[in-house]
Amino acid sequence: MEEGQPPSILPFLLLLLIPLPTALCWGKDGHYAVCKIAQDYLSEDALSAVKELLPGSAQGHLAAVCSWADDVGYTHNYRWSQPLHYVDTPDFICNYRYCRDCHDSSGHKHVCVTAAIHNYTMQLQSQLNYNLTEALMFLSHFVGDVHQPLHVGFLGDLGGNTITVRWYRRKTNLHHVWDDMIIESALKRFYGSDLSTMIQAIQSNITDIWLNDVPVWESCAHNYTACPNWYASESISLACKFAYRNATPGSTLEDEYFLSRLPIVEQRLAQAGVRLAAILNRIFTSKTGTITGTARL
Ligand SMILES: [Zn+2]
Repeated sequence: MEEGQPPSILPFLLLLLIPLPTALCWGKDGHYAVCKIAQDYLSEDALSAVKELLPGSAQGHLAAVCSWADDVGYTHNYRWSQPLHYVDTPDFICNYRYCRDCHDSSGHKHVCVTAAIHNYTMQLQSQLNYNLTEALMFLSHFVGDVHQPLHVGFLGDLGGNTITVRWYRRKTNLHHVWDDMIIESALKRFYGSDLSTMIQAIQSNITDIWLNDVPVWESCAHNYTACPNWYASESISLACKFAYRNATPGSTLEDEYFLSRLPIVEQRLAQAGVRLAAILNRIFTSKTGTITGTARL
């Protein structure tokens, strides 16, 4: 990480010349959904730790701080955190490898979303002299981001940011379609423009059609606390199979694309929520329990 190391002036000036992508992440609705889903699966121990770390207006509600990392990402003090929201693979390579892919645009290693998840998990687990409130807010956000398939997209198109498409009649880019537009259109068409109705529908699926998948989602190989490399591998695979497919520059994306991709978006929001809770439960619960054993839905 580059925290505390002010960038030299030349890269800083160059950065000013590069237009920022229109979106860094899942939009506010996507992040809110992930954290809301996670909150309901927290164990008692994890819930009290979260309450302790999120005092004030958040009052222990993860969803209230889930977009904090986006809000501060454009401020001078947190500019260093911008590359932590994603990881890119080489163009048209549909797999992810930590050693090859986890670096920032200047080639600094271990600066990407999967390293960030590992780092903030470690900070929270160590209970050492870190800013644990910030660690929790970063972790909650980045677990969401790594599940957005185009946050593990190709380097050449910046995860779909440079692929201009039409979403029905609106001109936008493919990354933004996956951050916001699919969710926005689903809210309007299926959920009466009410985010909590959409979240409830996803929660119902978690306890119904995805019930048998949940133990697989929440588990990590080797009993690791978090397994961000696995989440990233899933994302690039979904990016190739669904996000990039039939979405070349200049495409108009309409019902065929929307209706076939919405289930992917909803499942990724569910997986991110379930996994965020599982990670926090493993960090804060002395006895590790499965989510299915601690569900409070
Ligand atoms: Zn983000």
